[in-house]
Amino acid sequence: MTSLDDLPIRDDLRGLSPYGAPQLDVPVRLNTNENSYPVPEPVVEAIGKALAAELRELNRYPDRDAVALRADLAEYLGHGLTVAQVWAANGSNEIQQQLLQAFGGPGRSALGFVPAYSMHPLLALGTGTRWVPAERGVDFGLTVEEAVAQVREHQPDVVFLCSPNNPTGTALDPAVIAAVLDAAPGMVVVDEAYAEFARPGTVSALAVLPGHPRLVVSRTMSKAFGFAGGRLGYLAADPAVVQAVQLVRLPYHLSSLTQAAARAAVTHRDALLGTVSAIMAQRDRIVATLRERGLRVADSDANFVLFQVGGDQTVIWKALLAQGVLVRDVGLPGWLRVTAGTAAETDAFLTAMETVTWEREE
Ligand SMILES: *Cc1c(COP(=O)(O)O)cnc(C)c1O
Repeated sequence: MTSLDDLPIRDDLRGLSPYGAPQLDVPVRLNTNENSYPVPEPVVEAIGKALAAELRELNRYPDRDAVALRADLAEYLGHGLTVAQVWAANGSNEIQQQLLQAFGGPGRSALGFVPAYSMHPLLALGTGTRWVPAERGVDFGLTVEEAVAQVREHQPDVVFLCSPNNPTGTALDPAVIAAVLDAAPGMVVVDEAYAEFARPGTVSALAVLPGHPRLVVSRTMSKAFGFAGGRLGYLAADPAVVQAVQLVRLPYHLSSLTQAAARAAVTHRDALLGTVSAIMAQRDRIVATLRERGLRVADSDANFVLFQVGGDQTVIWKALLAQGVLVRDVGLPGWLRVTAGTAAETDAFLTAMETVTWEREE
């Protein structure tokens, strides 16, 4: 048997294992921030029809530039955006990989303020981009001064901001985004995967796009749209940024089936996004209940909540799993992250937490 180590693999990949949260078959899965609600039946039918219409032409390559889908996404985003300012790919992970291929790479660096999305350093690794882990302040916050000082010090080619941030859940102060744009010598990517769940009054970086050609806003249909399995992410930026990623994208990267399914989903967005307010209510309920029970909980603008369990979080993670509730250990000592889903899932999680906390106090 050949092992990985026997192969002439890149030195920087040697000894690593593939990334991914455990996909365990338990009753209550609250570990990957999916939308817990299944796709509504009328949308299932619409996607089915859209896919069927493509089948006879699967002998042909898809529209390489996914123009119709990008136009639909531009219309959804609003802010006067046009097709030339929007690009789509297989998940926002691929969007961000393409950005690093175009603006990062060997001899270049990308900086992020950790804890943030764990894929950012992995995408840097895969593209040969040097990763610079910058720090957050008290309570995982990030002030203008903290952000600007680290960007000035490291002069990264790409800065990743994540707002609302994963795993903390909190949206960034727009002043931080503006100040980083000012201080950064290169591209600034704002990962807004959870934008649709933000608390009222939260401003999207989309509003700052005019006059900022180095700003990229990354979005996804994986969370609020409940379309994680469809794999569709997109960006909004200056048309020149779209031209840049077109230099590195694989030709025909988005299959005609993906494009058709995503277009049908965007068309039926009212039905798909109809679950967002119910999920936000569960999110607020989790925050309030855990705080009432005396736990520290980060403010959340997303469909998940980061909460402090104290001590060794892996013990609580296992205890919750034993009760059929899968949450996420993001590797932050003493903290765990739980996705907000249906009311029944929140019930199960909060009940399990009660037992677990009680066991801890024994
Ligand atoms: C879930 C998530 C994504 C989504 O990635 P896709 O490839 O679009 O499924 C992107 N960014 C963050 C911060 C996330 O948490």
